[in-house]
Amino acid sequence: MSIPAVGNLLDASCATYVQVVTTTSADPAASSSSSGVAPSKSESKSKAAGSQWGRAEAVSWANSLACIFLLAATPTSAFWTYAACAHYKCALSGPIYDEHLTWDKVFPAPTLKGALVYVGWLVFQGLLYAFLPGKIGYGQRTPAGYLLPYKVNGLFAWTITHVAFVFGSFYLGIFPASIIADLWGPLLIAANAYGYILSIFSYVKAWYFPSHPEDCKFSGSIPCDIFMGIEFNPRFGEMWDFKQFHNGRPGIIAWTLIDISFAAAQYNEYGYVTNSMILLNILHMIYVVDFFYNEDWYLRTIDIAHDHFGFYLGWGDIVWLPWMYTLQAHYLLRNPISLSTAWFAFLLGMGLLGYGILRSANHQKDVVRRTDGQCAVWGKPARVIRTKYTTGDGEVHTSLLLASGFWGLAHQFNYVGDLLLSTAECLLCGAAHPLPYFYIAWMTALLLHRISRSEKRCQAKYGKYWDEYNKIVPWKLCPYVY
Ligand code: NDP
Repeated sequence: MSIPAVGNLLDASCATYVQVVTTTSADPAASSSSSGVAPSKSESKSKAAGSQWGRAEAVSWANSLACIFLLAATPTSAFWTYAACAHYKCALSGPIYDEHLTWDKVFPAPTLKGALVYVGWLVFQGLLYAFLPGKIGYGQRTPAGYLLPYKVNGLFAWTITHVAFVFGSFYLGIFPASIIADLWGPLLIAANAYGYILSIFSYVKAWYFPSHPEDCKFSGSIPCDIFMGIEFNPRFGEMWDFKQFHNGRPGIIAWTLIDISFAAAQYNEYGYVTNSMILLNILHMIYVVDFFYNEDWYLRTIDIAHDHFGFYLGWGDIVWLPWMYTLQAHYLLRNPISLSTAWFAFLLGMGLLGYGILRSANHQKDVVRRTDGQCAVWGKPARVIRTKYTTGDGEVHTSLLLASGFWGLAHQFNYVGDLLLSTAECLLCGAAHPLPYFYIAWMTALLLHRISRSEKRCQAKYGKYWDEYNKIVPWKLCPYVY
């Protein structure tokens, strides 16, 4: 859930894991990271500094220019879509042909109410994250050898937030349910301000008080360090994790709340809610609830396990995700669409099929690692490759690569499910405008980019074991396609 564009450039020359050549059974520490069992103190702390993998430590001037461009272009595109929807019924070309275009149509003026609502939202989510109970889950071992604990209370926080929103608006009438749609411009300004402050703060923190200095990566370029981040897992104290909080809470929790608010705004505008808006809410809600229901699994995905924390993840989670991932709801507010029953059923089926694929694939990988390969996949014993790799502290660890089930079809067949679901979410907006199709275009670029990053990283990490996997499973995304 992040901006990928220069990741490739920066990852291209990444330093590697040390390859190890013998194959043995799985490392208990690796297993514990998957199952969430607490590691011992010696396991969870790196003994030596200087990890050998991760992002490149030096980048070229072209990388710096790309980072500067993205630092400016990504917020501009968020504001452009705001202008298109707020003033031109979501026509992307609207601002270009407007003879009376003024700055305030693209960059809305900040308001005190917008700022207060936004700060209240952040504080509320921060308190829920810090104080709601939850079991402790563990991420992947970091390049320097840390095995970090995370509090898994996202589903609790999502539920409380949505109950409070529905109760406070529909039942008590303290605020209108359309509040987010009504304050869209001022909230966009406030979120951008926070996204930039967060990125700068993360940069300064990495220099002066990093949480895990051995996992920091300095590129030698200030714009690249701000954009891609320096610290791997910045934290306040032992548990308040920047990545988990910003991605999950003001980011993903906002997603479904925004959808509900735009549905309410559609009702206010027309006196009804279209079945397309309802379907969008259903599909997004399945995706988001699934994310929180499986939050422990998320701790071992690429966002947490491989990306550093800077503008790319920080601003991306705070602005890009809630703004750009909900564009279909903005579109349907301005362009209400009624779907035929057959088309509704088809798109629902397509979305559920996509969801089923991504959930099952992700589950297969998680279970196989949690059980050390002692499980069945599609009715047969899991086919696994036992691997070794070394972290920067010199310690050797083991892991498993699954080579059957969905992971026997292609390296990232889970992405096919995501792409199917995303396509259904776009198709329900009809074909009159390109804007609602931003999401599938974005997801395709993001996931293809992820495949290339993951391939490089896994090749470096697993060496001959990755070659072995490639021999068994040559396809990256989908058999006979790519
Ligand atoms: P994955 O959770 O699929 O993780 C990829 C990693 O899994 C690899 O880097 C490797 O790391 C490990 N791996 C690779 N091959 C195998 C194998 N054969 N057996 C076991 N482990 C393997 O990737 P993501 O984090 O990108 O995606 C997680 C989910 O989130 C997906 O469903 C994706 O569609 C979704 N997603 C959604 C986004 C959105 O914006 N809506 C954005 C990105 C992802 P290692 O061995 O080190 O564990």
